[in-house]
Amino acid sequence: MDNAVQIGLVFRVDGNRTRVRDSAGEVVDCFLPKTLRRGARLRKTTVIAVGDQVEWSLTDSGEGKILKILPRERVFSRSNPSDRYPGEDVLVTNPGRLLVIDSLADPSFNPRFVDRLLCSAEAQNIPAAIVFNKSDLVNENTIPPLLERYRQAGYETLVTSIISGQGLGELSGWLNTGITLLSGRSGVGKSSLLNVLAPGLGRRVAEISAATNKGRHTTTATELLPYKNGFVIDTPGIREFGLWRISKGTLGRLFPEFAPYYDHCHFRDCLHDSEPKCAVKAALAEGKINQERYDSYLAILVDLPRTLPYNKYE
Ligand code: GDP
Ligand code: ZN
Repeated sequence: MDNAVQIGLVFRVDGNRTRVRDSAGEVVDCFLPKTLRRGARLRKTTVIAVGDQVEWSLTDSGEGKILKILPRERVFSRSNPSDRYPGEDVLVTNPGRLLVIDSLADPSFNPRFVDRLLCSAEAQNIPAAIVFNKSDLVNENTIPPLLERYRQAGYETLVTSIISGQGLGELSGWLNTGITLLSGRSGVGKSSLLNVLAPGLGRRVAEISAATNKGRHTTTATELLPYKNGFVIDTPGIREFGLWRISKGTLGRLFPEFAPYYDHCHFRDCLHDSEPKCAVKAALAEGKINQERYDSYLAILVDLPRTLPYNKYE
């Protein structure tokens, strides 16, 4: 048996079990030694995430063993909602693009949640775009102002409906290469969109959850799903999205439409809130910055720390 060290891509994580794809496209189930977990705990981060590149080797039992997680170039992370493990919760490593999915109705569009996801993408330089789903449920006149708000901020937008079929061809084109992360609240139609675009993928998702539900705990698995020349990953059931490693002072940089203004505020450490002679607020007053986006900025700002805690293990 060949026990040589190999490089692979983690494409499924379910607790301690991971599944790795080697360079020839072969799939191997791997286990994760305790020592790797300990290191990640000290660094207060997720030990292994889908999209990670790893070194692994076959053990004599024919199972794979993860030896090392290679440095992560980019991550899409949130702050861990669990009180037991405060720190970083890496949702996916090296995504090529984030598609924020939200619905125009049922549930109604939630700009605060969408804007949080966009800020996280900006913090990691992950290109992001917004998909407005369920267009069949709203009067079409209500849509253009919403699109304009995000285009003004520099984002690509797409309107979709699984009922009328609007935008589905274009969405399929967007998923063509790299790792595309679909993120959004539950109920906005992420699984439905994936199922219409790739019925095969939908079946796979169903099979997997049926299989793991037989196990001892309910599934928390995340998985990269092959689609055309790339992978799609759906982050299921996100209810909370706390921004990771973003302080009050850096938030303004995560709103691309503030960029022409924030260096022109009177105070260098202006938070664009109640400070006088703020160039961002002047732009807001002139209609150059959208009021809803600015409201999101303030809503996010309140919860952020003034400074980031220091972690000597990072
Ligand atoms: P997820 O939690 O984001 O994966 O959302 P689901 O795919 O489970 O969809 C939630 C509900 O919205 C389901 O009842 C879907 O049938 C419905 N739905 C999804 N997309 C559309 C759409 O474009 N139009 C309408 N009217 N309903 C949709
Ligand atoms: Zn300012």
